[in-house]
Amino acid sequence: MKNIVVVGGCFAGITVANKLVRKLRRKDAKVILIEPNEFNIYEPQYVFWGFKKYPQSKFTKPMNKVLSGKVTWLRTVATHIDSVKKQISLSNGETLPYDYLVLATGAKMDEAQVDSYDDDKIHHFYLADATKKLQDALKNFAGGTIVISPSTVPYKCPPAPAEFTFLLDTYLRKNNLRDKTTIKYLYPLMRPYPEARVSEKVQKLFDKRGIEFVEFFNYETVDKENRKVISLEGEEIEYDLLVLIPPHMGHEIIIDSDLGDREGFVRTDRFTLKVKDQENMYAIGDCTDMPISKSGAAAHFSAPALIKNILLEMKGKVPTKKYGGFTVCFVVTSFRRSLLLVFSYNYAPRKFGLHNLFLYGLFKKAFKIVYFKALIKGYL
Ligand SMILES: Cc1cc2nc3c(=O)[nH]c(=O)nc-3n(C[C@H](O)[C@H](O)[C@H](O)COP(=O)(O)OP(=O)(O)OC[C@H]3O[C@@H](n4cnc5c(N)ncnc54)[C@H](O)[C@@H]3O)c2cc1C
Repeated sequence: MKNIVVVGGCFAGITVANKLVRKLRRKDAKVILIEPNEFNIYEPQYVFWGFKKYPQSKFTKPMNKVLSGKVTWLRTVATHIDSVKKQISLSNGETLPYDYLVLATGAKMDEAQVDSYDDDKIHHFYLADATKKLQDALKNFAGGTIVISPSTVPYKCPPAPAEFTFLLDTYLRKNNLRDKTTIKYLYPLMRPYPEARVSEKVQKLFDKRGIEFVEFFNYETVDKENRKVISLEGEEIEYDLLVLIPPHMGHEIIIDSDLGDREGFVRTDRFTLKVKDQENMYAIGDCTDMPISKSGAAAHFSAPALIKNILLEMKGKVPTKKYGGFTVCFVVTSFRRSLLLVFSYNYAPRKFGLHNLFLYGLFKKAFKIVYFKALIKGYL
């Protein structure tokens, strides 16, 4: 019997584990998932949650509701991977051997690098506690300048900062604060979104809503005493409230096990999802250095290739199944509208469908249900 170990049990890891146990007979393989957290969070909800308080349980499910009973869950942290001995060290001092390993450790939100998130004027919406703090700040906001900026690239869900900005504009209008507020969107490129055609649409919407775009802003640091955000090039932008997407990097285990690039993202073959220069080791989701968006959708569409390749290897065959980079992305442009984009390694994002109410409904109301009932369970 083979041991297939998945390190990291959020969207990517749970999906892979759930799909694997449905493809394999119990006598052939044991699928083990290592994850310290007891709950799974539907992260796209954070973008909306910043504006309205409701219980986190509305977009969180306990592990036993999303993970198949056929997967062995170890509620602990993996601390090191020895790829020569093919074993994983755990925080409880035990070691776990593997025949096949799947890394799904995601990206670490390195709040400590900014060292200012305790300030009541500096916020983000990428983690639960930070989003709760942002809710309070927006509730107490009476006008001034709000600045939105990523601190590093890549970051999870490329449209999320722009989506937040659109929702912020709508929120301020609803609360009669828009004419007392300047919104500035800072971005490291010459356009407000990585891809040119989508960017054109985003820029048009920014212009229409009076959102100021500051190009080529490479975040360097915050001067919290003088309320200024400063770029690598020395540009200074004043704020009354700063929404700074936290720095993203790989987790310690990837760095300490020498499996990562400079930022700690796993060096991964973008087609087969095999970890480069390693045997029987795969990676998926936000922990990889693959040239696709760090998104649940990308993890979902790449999972079948990874699973097929493990199955091929188990049969003694060469893992030749390729992922073509196909993924989709919803871009919320107000509380009522969104765009749907599709893209792959072979073509840049194409706008699919219209900027319409139907897709908003699909995203906001139905998608959370699809996520918990079907996607993460590996049925789709
Ligand atoms: C605000 C926001 C909006 C978003 N919107 C969208 C969207 O609209 N569409 C979309 O597709 N995606 C969206 N995303 C991105 C999506 O949520 C993530 O890309 C997805 O959750 C990544 O899943 P993952 O499993 O790869 O990584 P993660 O969710 O980061 O999970 C990694 C897991 O690994 C565990 N782990 C880490 N290190 C260890 C270790 N040493 N031992 C054991 N376990 C470990 C962690 O505890 C964690 O549970 C959004 C994200 C955010 C923050």
